[in-house]
Amino acid sequence: MLKRENRGIIRRLDKLRRKVVLLAAGCKCEICGAADVVLEDHHPISRDFWWWRWDLANSVCVCRDCHSSPATIWQWLAYNRPSQYAWLRLQKRFTHILKRRDLDFEAAERVLLSAHDAVYLQAA
Ligand SMILES: [Zn+2]
Repeated sequence: MLKRENRGIIRRLDKLRRKVVLLAAGCKCEICGAADVVLEDHHPISRDFWWWRWDLANSVCVCRDCHSSPATIWQWLAYNRPSQYAWLRLQKRFTHILKRRDLDFEAAERVLLSAHDAVYLQAA
C-alpha cells in the first residue's frame, strides 16, 4: 500500500522528472516535433513500477496526440533509439520479479537532481 509519508516525495520526484524530461527534449514532442502544445512525460514501462518510474531511460517526451498511442511510441523507439528500446525490452522481462513499490527514494532523487543540473546547464 502507498504509505502516507511517501506521498510528498513521490509528488516531488514526479515533478522533477517531468521537468528534466521536457528540458532534455528541448520542450518539443520527441516523436512529431510539436512544440506549442501540452507535453507529457511518457513511461514506456508503466509508472506503477517504481523501480523504473523515475529512471530517465524509461522516458519519452510526447504531445497528447502521440501519447495516446503507446504502440506507436514503442515503434518509434525501435527505429530511432535502438539502444534505449533494447534496454527497455530487457527491463520489461524483470517487471514481474521486482515489487511494484520498492525503491530507495533518496537515491532516485539524487540521480534526478544531477540529471536536472546537467540538462539545465545545457539549456542555459
Ligand atoms: Zn507528438
